[in-house]
Amino acid sequence: YHAKRRGGETRFACFADTMGGGNEPSLEDELQVAVGAGQLRLVFQPIVGLPDEELAGIEALCRWQHPRLGLLEADAFIPLAERIGVIEELGRWVLREACTYARRWPQLPLHVNVSARQLEADGFSTEVRTIVRETGMIANQLVLEVTESQLIASEVPAAHLRILSDEGIRVALDDFGTGYSSLKNLTTLPIDMLKIDRCFVATLDASAEGAAVAQAVLRLGRVLGMDTVAEGVETAAQARELTLLGATKAQGHYFARPLPASEIDDRIAAWKGNRYGSRLRA
Ligand code: C2E
Ligand code: MG
Ligand code: MG
Ligand code: MG
Repeated sequence: YHAKRRGGETRFACFADTMGGGNEPSLEDELQVAVGAGQLRLVFQPIVGLPDEELAGIEALCRWQHPRLGLLEADAFIPLAERIGVIEELGRWVLREACTYARRWPQLPLHVNVSARQLEADGFSTEVRTIVRETGMIANQLVLEVTESQLIASEVPAAHLRILSDEGIRVALDDFGTGYSSLKNLTTLPIDMLKIDRCFVATLDASAEGAAVAQAVLRLGRVLGMDTVAEGVETAAQARELTLLGATKAQGHYFARPLPASEIDDRIAAWKGNRYGSRLRA
């Protein structure tokens, strides 16, 4: 409305600044209150077994139902939550919410992502055990997804994982192959599962090197007696190739996108009702 005039010169820069959201709170401020305001949701992405594509697990992924911007994906706010220190509160909410859903799908491993900040807090393992107990979840059903770089930070994360592993909770290494790979971690820490980052899956058919790395990781997992989950599978060709290379599980848009809980219910019902095959896809 008011282009500011100073010495006869219209200052459009000031004008633009005001229009650009001077009255709206920053995403940062909004995220500070989002958990308490009940704006977070969970969606669930199926994990399938190979080669049969049966439902083999579910990963909980966080979404933010933003009042102005609509439903935001985790990529759009988890890094911010880590930066501004909201991640511990957010992570606690995610864990409790996910564990509450676990009883709805008692036969399925439920994966929950955990941030470095959570894993470095002294009270983390106690908190997880409390949430598992209070929600009545079977410890064995919970799989915590952590990344490689989280594990080299200090001894605290390793200690938490050992305590939780003794309780029956499982650990998956997420985005495997993209962090600082200290392969020592694979033998000294209680790791049950390797999730091969989707960049290796994406280059499967593009280059011989991509396939070679995927194959090496899958072999490593097999030798160490771990489940191997290929992430970001988008095509039938990738699914076939991964099966040939020995992946035991997979996840990606080709099988299913992250879905609201009610759609997971539908898939489980359809899956059980189909006695001729256990395939997840319609
Ligand atoms: P992630 O744990 O590796 O999750 C996989 C991400 O890839 C998800 O994005 C998922 O929607 C996406 N994705 C799944 N299949 C495909 C596919 O076929 N193609 C492609 N291009 N993408 C696929 P999202 O939900 O945006 O999450 C991004 C990251 O944010 C996650 O990576 C995880 O590190 C983090 N995150 C998500 N939810 C939580 C949470 O509750 N707590 C914490 N600490 N981190 C979370
Ligand atoms: Mg995304
Ligand atoms: Mg994950
Ligand atoms: Mg990942």
